[in-house]
Amino acid sequence: MTEEKPIVREAPRSAAEKLASGHFMTRQDFTELLAGFQDPRITELLAGEAVRVRKKYYGTKVFTRGLIEFTNYCKNNCYYCGIRGANRSAVRYRLTKKEILECCREGYWLGFRTFVLQGGEDPFYTDERMADLVREIKGAYPDCALTLSVGERSYESYRLLREAGADRYLLRHETADREHYRLLHPEPLTLDNRKRCLMDLKALGYQTGAGMMVGSPGQTRETLVEDLLFLQELRPQMVGMGPFIPHHDTCFAKEPAGSVELTLYLLAIVRLLLPRVLLPATTALGTLDPLGREKGLAVGANVVMPNLSPRRNRKNYDLYDNKICTGEEAAEGFRNLRCRIAAAGYELVMERGDYLEEETKG
Ligand code: SAH
Repeated sequence: MTEEKPIVREAPRSAAEKLASGHFMTRQDFTELLAGFQDPRITELLAGEAVRVRKKYYGTKVFTRGLIEFTNYCKNNCYYCGIRGANRSAVRYRLTKKEILECCREGYWLGFRTFVLQGGEDPFYTDERMADLVREIKGAYPDCALTLSVGERSYESYRLLREAGADRYLLRHETADREHYRLLHPEPLTLDNRKRCLMDLKALGYQTGAGMMVGSPGQTRETLVEDLLFLQELRPQMVGMGPFIPHHDTCFAKEPAGSVELTLYLLAIVRLLLPRVLLPATTALGTLDPLGREKGLAVGANVVMPNLSPRRNRKNYDLYDNKICTGEEAAEGFRNLRCRIAAAGYELVMERGDYLEEETKG
């Protein structure tokens, strides 16, 4: 390390400064920026700037999203995911409309004003059923934002759901590198279709979330550079990014988990790349490190997503091993989280927390 030429050591710093001052980043810039990982001076610079930018737009507010994991049936076979269709050991469940509305009712009573419906790609949820669900929820809670996270669908389907009242959509791109995408997902899934979905969602006026796992098998500095270039181009309103965590029933069972430090490094980069982005401190981050979510807030994250799913179903929404918050009631988990966030110096807020659009005039 000490023999490195000064010119090499300074490149990450200038890339970090370029990012922090809001300049367009080239492939070379991102490559140099990633070379600064584990250099404490760069890490501190990025974290400090990320917190400054987050504060400028959102103060110390941390937005709350109530996550309802409403089905774990899935027709896909993403190699990393514990609820992949081919996993015969997964205990499948699907909440009824009544149960979902009950989750919203409890969430609303607790103060939540955003609900996130997340699930596997469950063929039971046709456009008609999904749109009906969206209409019911928006009808009962017109002051709440509704986010969907139900995977890849057609433009027409996204359009129907948007018309039914859905406000936001989370669809991580997972990796923007074609070969890496193939390593993580069997056919018929393709990176092109994933990107097409994200473009459609944006065009339809959804507040759109992309993102990737950190440390997924086969991920390299080059694939991360692709991810950052893609995020810079897409400019999503939300970015979901957490460490990969192996699941015992998948082919990646023996792969190492992603790094908490690298996740934090990338969170800071994403905050600077997309200054107004809504950026969750994820459950996966909290699973790998007991203080993971607090650490996420300290590098620019500004969203948490407490679980509103019924307690009896939680452990079955088993994306990866040792997922936290599966044993508690919604209210209990929420109380704990609120205390922890306050202790970390932030303010958990219950408002809808929409994306802050840039001023168009003036
Ligand atoms: N079917 C939806 C929701 C998928 S689950 C969709 O396709 O968007 C939500 C996210 O969990 C995924 O996008 C993925 O990034 C993450 N995830 C799945 N398995 C994981 C694992 N083993 N470790 C960490 N994150 C995982």
